[in-house]
Amino acid sequence: MEANRKPFDEFVFGTHYYRAPTPLPEEWAGDLERIAALGLDCVQLRVLWRRNERVRGQYEFDDLDRLMALARANGLKVIVKFMLENAPDYVFRDLGGAAVAPDGIPMDYTGNGAFYLGGHRPCFDNPGVRAAAVEFVRRVVEHYRDEPSLLLWNVWNEPRIHRGECACVHSRAAFHRWLEERFGPVERLNGFLGKAWDSFESVQVPRTFRTYADMFLWRQWSHATLTGWLRAVRDAVKALDGRHPVIAHVGCCNVVNDPVDDLTDDWANARLFDFYGTSLSVGERFETPFERAWPFLILARMHDCSPYFWVHELYPEWGDWQGRIAPADFRYKVMSAVAGGAKGVVLWQYRAERLGHENDLAGLVNIDGTPKAVTHECQTFLEELRPWRGFLAKAEPVTDPVGILFDLDSNLIGSVESRDAQGNLRRAHGGIQPALDALQGIFTLCHELKLSPRIIDSRHLAEAAESLEVLYLPECFMVGEKTAEVLRRFAARGGLLIAEEGLALRQPNTWLNYPWPGAGMDELFGVRLEERVESLKTRRPWRLRVGGAEEVESIGYAAALQPLSPETQTLLRWADGRAAVVRRGSCVFLGFSPGCWCMAASQRGNEADLARQASAKALLRELLAEKVRLPEWPEGIMVRALRAGDEVRHVVFNYSDDPVSFTLEGRRITVRARESRLF
Ligand SMILES: [Zn+2]
Repeated sequence: MEANRKPFDEFVFGTHYYRAPTPLPEEWAGDLERIAALGLDCVQLRVLWRRNERVRGQYEFDDLDRLMALARANGLKVIVKFMLENAPDYVFRDLGGAAVAPDGIPMDYTGNGAFYLGGHRPCFDNPGVRAAAVEFVRRVVEHYRDEPSLLLWNVWNEPRIHRGECACVHSRAAFHRWLEERFGPVERLNGFLGKAWDSFESVQVPRTFRTYADMFLWRQWSHATLTGWLRAVRDAVKALDGRHPVIAHVGCCNVVNDPVDDLTDDWANARLFDFYGTSLSVGERFETPFERAWPFLILARMHDCSPYFWVHELYPEWGDWQGRIAPADFRYKVMSAVAGGAKGVVLWQYRAERLGHENDLAGLVNIDGTPKAVTHECQTFLEELRPWRGFLAKAEPVTDPVGILFDLDSNLIGSVESRDAQGNLRRAHGGIQPALDALQGIFTLCHELKLSPRIIDSRHLAEAAESLEVLYLPECFMVGEKTAEVLRRFAARGGLLIAEEGLALRQPNTWLNYPWPGAGMDELFGVRLEERVESLKTRRPWRLRVGGAEEVESIGYAAALQPLSPETQTLLRWADGRAAVVRRGSCVFLGFSPGCWCMAASQRGNEADLARQASAKALLRELLAEKVRLPEWPEGIMVRALRAGDEVRHVVFNYSDDPVSFTLEGRRITVRARESRLF
């Protein structure tokens, strides 16, 4: 696949419009006229398998034909977005298409708000279901590929597999084939995990988390099979239409969502498509450090996976009785998408929803089509953006040479380990689980230091590390040989390597290494873990003083460190005198996770949490200052830069409640309270 080509000369700004049965047919003509008048470029129409092939083999496109004609008449481009997870009744009745939970119970396939017509969700490991889905896709593509308004095909809306999906006979067979392809004879699987299966067919779908390895393998396979579903649909579209871009967009990407409960593999999936996208699943307010960093975290992940990408669902406001969003917060979302390097934004959705549990949700206009404050705000910034559209289509975000490693296997084992007997996440640290908390927290702290760090997927670390001065390893529980080699090379050329205490704790089969850290990292960092505790399991949480600040209690995992060589310096000590932070050459090892410290404050924010967060920030500032110029924008101001060739533009965010004037690249500017603006 020609990955991530740049298909459009201008930044694209559109909105989702139709998901049967809303908006109502009598509203279509007026709405599409008003959408064009607002200055939006395109509308997204959802093809619902269940609506457009309600009866097997009868393909009915009456709704979409009329909408397509209205879009054409108003000069609007159209994104055709498939919804195959909304499958027709025949898929369940005649093809045995229902997903099956690991306990053998077929999963209910009645509707929810997002799948209002029902049909949620068949199993695409079932060959009959997949063939019927591909045939439906082919019919749609044949029907619309010559439509002059067609902009692109979005073939999969928010690919994800939830906890408990799917252990039907087809999924189990596919799981066994995958194991066989990976391991060869079953004895090799047994040897790897220390198991005693007599054949691949005997390998069970796990219902317990307590053996770690079974669940780890099962969820690794679930990631892979989901990528296979996407590949099948992509191939079907590409075979019939080589002209229009074929894309998909993730709902909650890997740096936000848990890899057991709601999984997807952004890196692998993005490789399949002309470009990838993401929903901007963030909060509605941007007040705490994490809330402010959250959109940038998602965008940094997306940019790493697909340098050309779109934000494919941006919610003008959420609804669900949460009150109206301030236009400034709506603008913050849009401008963070722009600053984070998105090349297109599709709002979700034009009219607020009127049905199901998404009622009154996410509209740019009210249910009856009347405008809101965000409607006017949208029109205003569309006018503002107009002169920049060509620049924004080519511009790349300017980042600092700081990389934060994302490793899917470490994230997965962190999630598996952090569960109670029922499999529920313990949420011990106030956040999600250690690997994600560590990553989200360290990104947040970098954002608070006004830096623009990159998220680096471990699968392209070797190439990405070349342009970095600092590489941060947040709770990287698994370090493969290839990664270990890259880390050694990075340190040898003087790159600052900062690792948290969980580094290389485990082998690829989930077993513990010993001593810790493993994979040769003890030598590289000149350190061993003498003792490791989880704060909730200790009577007296360990205490630490950072710089001149007050002593704070650690949260999450904490490790007492043992320097291994005379070259290892101890930078900080726990209250009992044992080493908490050590350094050998350009390798710094932390006996705790500043990211977890930060996230606990984002969730609860009591005085002790805030003191701990401030200590984490102070420590990070001190470590990074040696390699990176820390921006000195005024209090409350964040600046992100975009560059295309020699042209550099800035997006300025004012988090404060007062206007701020300052000098940006030699020019005096004033930013209003809570304003986000392109300069
Ligand atoms: Zn299945």
